[in-house]
Amino acid sequence: MTAAFDTVVMKFGGSSVADPEKIRLVARRFVEARRRGLNVVGTVSAMGKTTDSLLALASDVSPSPNPRELDMLLSTGERIACALVAMAIGDLGEEAVSYTGSQAGILTDSTHTRAKIREIRGDRIRASLAQGKIVLVAGFQGFSRDTMEITTLGRGAGDLTAVALAATLGAACEIHSDVAGVFTADPRLVPGARKIPSISYDEMLEMASSGAKVLALRSVELARNHAVRIHARSTFTDEEGTWVQETGMEKAIISAVTHSETDVVFTLTGIPDRPGVAARIFEGVASAQVNVDTIIQNVVHGRAEMSFSVPAEDAGSTRDAITNLQEELGAFDVEVNRELGKVSLIGAGMRSHPGVAATMFRTLADLGINLEMISTSPIKISCMIDRDRIPEAVRALHAAFQLERPPEVEPTM
Ligand code: ASP
Ligand code: MG
Repeated sequence: MTAAFDTVVMKFGGSSVADPEKIRLVARRFVEARRRGLNVVGTVSAMGKTTDSLLALASDVSPSPNPRELDMLLSTGERIACALVAMAIGDLGEEAVSYTGSQAGILTDSTHTRAKIREIRGDRIRASLAQGKIVLVAGFQGFSRDTMEITTLGRGAGDLTAVALAATLGAACEIHSDVAGVFTADPRLVPGARKIPSISYDEMLEMASSGAKVLALRSVELARNHAVRIHARSTFTDEEGTWVQETGMEKAIISAVTHSETDVVFTLTGIPDRPGVAARIFEGVASAQVNVDTIIQNVVHGRAEMSFSVPAEDAGSTRDAITNLQEELGAFDVEVNRELGKVSLIGAGMRSHPGVAATMFRTLADLGINLEMISTSPIKISCMIDRDRIPEAVRALHAAFQLERPPEVEPTM
């Protein structure tokens, strides 16, 4: 299907380049695409768990590593992988060149460790493509013109580099990893989970934000904003994966069940009930760069009670932000719960089908599972439940909505 484009951006995740043998295999993938007549731009993640090891190394050396130096350190991971892939491509008889993010013209703002891409100057990439070379761009990093510093884009942002390159070059975007595409549920939990042939950006966004790890959330957002079609597929086979695009092909009411087991829930009680308090609390949390998920507020006897969830890695900075707010807003109590997880149903079809929430709650009730928090969007229903019960909840919901069976395909016009 990439034939409609003459340029393809192919991204390979860290597990696809984890050792020399895999690097040679990935090199072959690039060479095959080139020999099909495509202009090939590649981006690969740091080998295996390199980024984790570098982070661990940094914190062994320093209790709170300097963010600029952290970016200098972390950006080396993808640089190593790209250079090695370029060497392996050379051995297969094609020309390749690797570039750091900054050499490739990936310009970002100046925020270290979570920079945002502002623009990509694709000139150098285009010039190398014109010479017939396969171009490898180190993912997950860029350069700030304002500070003249190297930046990184945040964990998992190799996907983001790939989508941004595809948008700039008007290319197709293939994201290769050790999973074969997007599934109706995590196949490790649900043996009957089915690969979804195509799914809409909106559903994929909800899936990524509720625990599906195939594609990073920000990359799907960027793809939607620039109408980049993403083909998420396996590194190791030629079979079709999942296309993420404007609309899915299936007429499913529910597309997938997702789950996450890493949310941490904060409950604040005894908060003053007056205008502006919620704004202050979430301004405080936002300035710690934390993305809050489900938020629930109740007012009991003139005092508000508020619960919200954050990703586990942000629990520490959320705690600090709240401690500052306790000084400002007066005494309120804070409780932190690390025993919950979230199970979600995603499906564009639930907009026009009543009863989805009822079926979901009934399914969980029949298992005796208590719902601690519920939140919804037009195409998602999420329940926070006991973390230990996530696997059986996912399996029961997958069965209740018959997701192992392919739904009818929308007739093509
Ligand atoms: N190497 C980075 C990380 O592990 C970026 C990526 O893999 O996408 O977060
Ligand atoms: Mg990685």
